[in-house]
Order: sequence, then C-alpha cells, then structure tokens
Amino acid sequence: MQEVKKPKKPLIYYYIIVLLALMLFNFLAMPWMAQRQIVEVDYNTFISMVEQGQVGRVELQEQENRILFTDTDETRVYKTPMVPDDTLTQRLLDAQVSFYGEEIQQTDPLLSFLLTWVLPIVIFVAIGQYMSKRLMKNAGGPNAMMFGKSSAKVYVKSSEGIRFSDVAGEDEAKESLQEIVEYLHDPGKYREIGAHMPKGVLLVGPPGTGKTMLAKAVAGEANVPFFSMSGSEFVEMFVGMGASKVRDLFKQAKEKAPCIVFIDEIDAIGQKRNSGAYGSNDEREQTLNQLLTEMDGFEENTGVIILAATNRPESLDPALTRPGRFDRRVPVELPDLKGREDILKVHAKKVKVAEDVDWNKVARMAAGASGAELANIVNEAALRAVRDGRRFATQSDLEESIEVVIAGYQKKNAILTDQEKKVVAYHEVGHALVAARQSNSAPVQKITIVPRTSGALGYTMQVDEGNHYLMSREELENKIATLTGGRAAEELVFHSASTGASNDIEQATKLARAMITRYGMSRRFDMVAMETVNNQYLGGDATMVCSAETAAQIDQEVVELVKGQHEKAANILKENRAKLDELAAHLYEKETITGEEFMEILNRKATSG
Ligand code: ADP
Repeated sequence: MQEVKKPKKPLIYYYIIVLLALMLFNFLAMPWMAQRQIVEVDYNTFISMVEQGQVGRVELQEQENRILFTDTDETRVYKTPMVPDDTLTQRLLDAQVSFYGEEIQQTDPLLSFLLTWVLPIVIFVAIGQYMSKRLMKNAGGPNAMMFGKSSAKVYVKSSEGIRFSDVAGEDEAKESLQEIVEYLHDPGKYREIGAHMPKGVLLVGPPGTGKTMLAKAVAGEANVPFFSMSGSEFVEMFVGMGASKVRDLFKQAKEKAPCIVFIDEIDAIGQKRNSGAYGSNDEREQTLNQLLTEMDGFEENTGVIILAATNRPESLDPALTRPGRFDRRVPVELPDLKGREDILKVHAKKVKVAEDVDWNKVARMAAGASGAELANIVNEAALRAVRDGRRFATQSDLEESIEVVIAGYQKKNAILTDQEKKVVAYHEVGHALVAARQSNSAPVQKITIVPRTSGALGYTMQVDEGNHYLMSREELENKIATLTGGRAAEELVFHSASTGASNDIEQATKLARAMITRYGMSRRFDMVAMETVNNQYLGGDATMVCSAETAAQIDQEVVELVKGQHEKAANILKENRAKLDELAAHLYEKETITGEEFMEILNRKATSG
C-alpha cells in the first residue's frame, strides 16, 4: 500500500515563495533586459556619429541629465551624459536628425506590461489554485483551516500491498477476515440473500501479534482504500473536536466506499464511560458517543467496514461491543510453535540466511515471542552477520539474537572476580541440574555465565519440545523447584546466599501465587478464585478479590509451597553433589555449554560412577 503524501507546508508558504520569485524577476531580470539594449558611449562619439550621419533619433532627457539616441535604422539605443553644449541643437539641425524631449520606448510597452505583471500573476494564481485543490483532496494535515477535520492516513491500492500471505500463522484470524474480503469484492451476493456483514470487527490480542498487519492485508486483498487512524488521534484538547473528527472520517469513508477504516488502539476512546464525575473525561466520552452514533447511522451493506485493534478488550465500553457495532471479535493470539516457525520464515525471506538453518529449533527457543519480536530476532541476526563480516546469517546468529532479545547484549568488559564467577557457575548449574533430574522438566538448551547488559550474570535456557497448552500441578511445582535450584546450589556449596537469585525469587513467587489464587491448586482453598486478571494481553497483572484474612492465609500457602520446592531442589542437588561440582567446574572454564554437552557429562558420570 502506498501512503498518499500530504503536503507538509501550509498554503501560505507557497504563496510567499511565488511572490519572492516574482519580485526577483521584476527587480533583476526586467531592468537587466532593458539595460542590455542601451549602449553607453562618450559625448565625443555622439557628436562624431551625428556629424557622420549615423544617428537616427535623439531624445534629450534633461531631468536625468542624459541623451538617448538610436542609430539610423533604430535597432540600437545609445546613451551619453549630457554636457553643457549650446551648439548641440544647431548640430542636430545641421545633421537633419529628428530630436525630441520625450522618451524613446526601448520595448513595446504592452509586451513589457504583460511580461512584468500579468504573466506572473497568472502563474501565481494557477499554482495557488492547484495547491489548495490538492490540500482539499487530502483533507487533513496540521492546518489552521482544517480544524476538526480527521487526519486519517489514506492508503491507496498499490502493487506492494500487504497480503494475507505476508501474515504468517494466525490462520483462524485470517479465516474470519477472509469473509470480509469476499464481501468487499462482491457485496451484492450478500445483499441478495439478505445477509449483512458486521459493521465492525474488533481485533484483540497482545502487542506485536500482527493486528495492524492483518487489517492492512484485508484492504490489500480486497483492493479497497484503507483509512488508518489511531484512537489517541481523536482525543483533542478541546471538547467536541474529537467528535467532529469522527464525523469527518466517516464522511470521507462513505464517499470512498467500499473501503476499510482502521482504528488502532481503540481503547483510547472506547473505554468504559464513567458515571461518577471524578475522573470522567468529557472529550473522550463525546468522541465515543459520536463514534457510536456514526456506527448506527450508516446502513448495513454500504461497504464501509470498520476494523479496530486493542489489547485491552475488557476495558471497552459495552455499548461499543454490542451487536450492530463491533459485533465480531477476532482474537489474534501469540503464535504457537508452528506459527513462530512460519513467521520466522516469512521474515527470513527479506534477509540472506544460510540454507542449513533449523527453523524449528529457533522457533522452539523463542517460546512466547510475538510476531514483532520474531521479526526483530531475524533482523538482529542479519545485523550480527554484517558485524562479523559474513554475507548471510547463520544458525548461531539467530540463536545469539534470541539471547540478545531475551537478555541483552553480551557485556564484553564486565569483570567478575573468580569467586563471583564460581558462584554464578554453581548457580546456573544448580538450575539446570534440578531441571534435568525432574522427569517432567524441559531439557536444558544452553547454559552461559557470560554477563549480559540486562544485568543477568548468566542464565540457563530451557526449551520446550512442542506446544504446551496445559500445565499440570507437578509441572508447575517442578518449575518452581528449578527456579529455586540456583540458590539451593549456592547454599549447598558456599553455605551462604547471594543477590543473584532475585529474579528467580520473583518468578517462583508469582507462579506459586497463581497456582493458589487462580489455578485452584491448593487443598485449603480448593477451586475458589482469589484473584482476577486485569490485562490479559498486557502482562496479566492481577488484583486480589478476597478478605484480608484470606490474603494472609494465601501468603502462608505461597511460602509453604515455595519452601517445599526449595527443599526438594536442595535434596536433588545433595544427591548429585559430585555431578554438580564437575559441571560447575566445566562451565567455569568454558563459560558457555550447550544442552548436549551438559547431558553428556551428566550421563557419563552416571554410568562410570
Ligand atoms: P500489532 O498491531 O498487533 O501491535 P503489528 O501488526 O503492528 O502488531 O505488527 C508489528 C510487526 O510485527 C509487523 O510489521 C510485522 O513485521 C511483525 N509481525 C507481527 N505478526 C506477524 C505475523 N503473523 N506474520 C508476519 N509478521 C508479523
């Protein structure tokens, strides 16, 4: 899709430029043209030319103190300063030269008038007309005359439009949008049978999963104009301005129908209206009301489809989501393993990549990544390849770039003391060993103790083999045990604790709390929900919905749960103390070891010892 460029400067700039050009032309070019025809000679030459009969007409300009004269066939004009000369009149009479007291016209006065004034003004007006027409057509731009007009970006059809094939994964979303494409192609088919298309479709999902892309792809597939506007662009400083923008947007859309109007981040205007005076927002509410009215106002099957995207569907006003407005909701979720692989491949087409890249493995490593993050990973890999002077990105570039996205760049000059490095090595091996020894834990992919810019001194990367939709109580418990494994190893070996476990502690606590308050996995509370999730798609923070006493009991339960798993991890490590030492020593020396190396050492020891 090609975005139509809006003229950036207001009309006034163009007028000023044209005016300046006009003045320059008049002040410099015209006198120059006129001057060019006048040749300056001295008085002697003039007198001798008169005597030799080479002069045609003479004009005595006493006020300007000069004499203008022409040659006999009047093709050239000469001038000379006037000198007090009583004999001049006699000389001229003798030479039979006709002379005047008035000015000799150097150029045709009509022509010169046309050139100097009429022509520039005509050009000036023509350009002005053209610019103002263009401005009107684009209907928008930061312009004083365009107060209250929508500034929607209009995308027109073009060969490079985004298609469904550019959006990898998200098959369910594409399927329900496909119907809209068909409708836009041939609305008559639907009208005949009496079916009507939803007026609005709400795309909901976490950030970066391709909602904007999907909306553009619908427009690209249907080959219709696409108006794009962000919800926040409607909200203005003055009450009523947003509403007038909504009106204008819909007016434009109806003129261009069939077309698609895309409102990104609709929660900016579509939030639940507030009954209380405090915290209510007049401007936003008016804008929302106008949007509701507009959506009701246009007939079904006019060919205007409104797509909107949000990652906070629960905060939308119920009036907005009722049938007749946004009556279809299309979830755009984080991609699963297959989806991730496809997205990686789509983006890999844009860069040069080695042929032997194992996309499945990369996709498995990037568990939980959104489409935008995956696109970023591929780009980071390409950048890394360039930095290292390779002509294409390799598997290791991709793996490293995943780590960059997860943990930041390697900190090249962070210097750990020997003791610190040892602690970090034991800590990471502790995680990995606990994970490996629990049958249900995912295998370890990589362990590294190279510090990262995010502040991590080392980390253990675990990779799930396939898709995981459900997690059992045991799996969750094992996960907590694995998280505590790092600290457990430090305690076992060094008999002390370090600050390195803060992130583990946070994660373990969060998991344990969720198990008790949301997943119903505690005996004491059974299947009672103690928390509700607020922003499902934005990190998912939760609010407590229980009495203070229950909250205290929950805290107790959480502590018990984590403590139990911590003890379990400590026991596992105690039983495998010899392997722990060997692996930590190996990691200390190598700094990074792969999952295979790790398993090999673990199993080798097991058979020989
Ligand atoms: P959202 O609107 O959901 O926040 P966008 O549609 O703006 O996300 O996506 C941002 C970028 O992420 C896109 O430009 C694209 O490069 C990439 N992306 C996201 N999802 C996908 C996908 N399913 N297939 C291909 N690329 C994707």
